[in-house]
Amino acid sequence: MLIPFEYIKFDSIKDASVFLKEHGDDAHILAGGTDVIVKIRARKLKPKYLVDIKGIEGLKGIEKDRDKIVIGALTTANEVAKNTHIKEYFPVLKDGAWTLGDYEIRNRATIGGNICNGSPSADTVIPLLVYDAKVIIASDEGERVEALDKFFKGPGKVNLGPGEILKNIILNIPDYPVKGKFFRVSRVEGMDLASLNMAILVANPDSISDRKVRISIGAVAPVPLRVYELEEFLSGKEFTKEIFDKAKEILLNNLNPREGSLRATPYYKKRMAVHYLSWLFEEI
Ligand SMILES: Cc1cc2nc3c(=O)[nH]c(=O)nc-3n(C[C@H](O)[C@H](O)[C@H](O)COP(=O)(O)OP(=O)(O)OC[C@H]3O[C@@H](n4cnc5c(N)ncnc54)[C@H](O)[C@@H]3O)c2cc1C
Repeated sequence: MLIPFEYIKFDSIKDASVFLKEHGDDAHILAGGTDVIVKIRARKLKPKYLVDIKGIEGLKGIEKDRDKIVIGALTTANEVAKNTHIKEYFPVLKDGAWTLGDYEIRNRATIGGNICNGSPSADTVIPLLVYDAKVIIASDEGERVEALDKFFKGPGKVNLGPGEILKNIILNIPDYPVKGKFFRVSRVEGMDLASLNMAILVANPDSISDRKVRISIGAVAPVPLRVYELEEFLSGKEFTKEIFDKAKEILLNNLNPREGSLRATPYYKKRMAVHYLSWLFEEI
C-alpha cells in the first residue's frame, strides 16, 4: 500500500519552483513516476507533497534549433528513440533510450527523470555523456546551464538546488563524421536494469590524426563515468594490438565497480567493459 501524500500539479516552472522551495524535503517532483512511485512503494521515499510537473509548457518534445537539438525533460524514452533528429544525429542515444525498460515503461519514463534519478547506469545518460550533453536547469530565479558530466554527485544524488527543475537537454549536432555504439548487458534478456552499459563515440574515424574518442560507462562507479584518461590516450591513434593492450590497462585502472551488486561481480563488469572496448579495434 502507498503511504498517503498530497498530489499537486503545476503548469509553470515559477509556481512549481516556489512550492518546492517552500516545502523543502517534504515535496518531491513527479514526472513519469516510474522511479518515484517504486521508491514510495518501497518506503524509500516518503514525500508529503508529490509535485507533478507534467502540465508545465516547454518541457516536452524535441526541437532542432540551427546546430542544436533541444530535448524537453518530459520527453519520454519512446519519443526520444523514435525521433527523426535523434535517429539521424544521435543514434547512440536512440539505442540507449530504446533499451530502457519495455515499451510501456518507455511510454511513461522521461529523459529528465532518467537523468535526475541519478542512477549510475541510467540508459539515456551513458549515451548523452559521449555527445557532451548540457542541461538547462530552471527555477523561479532563472536558468543555468551545466555540462551533464558535472551533474552527478553520487548514487541517487544530482546537482539540483532547492526549487530547481531540469528543463532541457542540449546536444550540439556534429559537423564532422561520427561513428559510435551503445552496449549493454543485463542478467536477463527481458526487462532488467543494466549490469553494465557503455557508449563509444569516434569523431573523424577515417582520419587517424583527427580522431577523437569519447567513452562513457555505467554501473562501474558511484556516478555515470566518462573515461577521460582513456579518451585522451586513444584520440589521434591507430587502433593496433599494442594500443589495445595499453588502452585495456587504462580502462581497468579507471573502473571501480562496487562489491555486492545484485547484478554482476566487479570481475564480470571489467571483462565486459574490455570486451566492448575491443569494438573500436575491430570496427574502426
Ligand atoms: C519496470 C521498470 C524498468 C526500468 N528499466 C529501466 C532501464 O532499463 N534503464 C533505466 O535507465 N531505467 C529503468 N527504469 C527506471 C526509470 O524508468 C527511469 O529512470 C525513468 O527514465 C525515470 O523517469 P520518470 O519520468 O518515470 O521519473 P520519475 O520517477 O517521475 O522521477 C525520477 C526522479 O527524478 C526527479 N525528476 C523527474 N523529472 C525531473 C525534472 N524535470 N527536474 C528535476 N527532477 C526531476 C524526480 O523527483 C525523481 O527523484 C525502470 C523502472 C521500472 C519501474
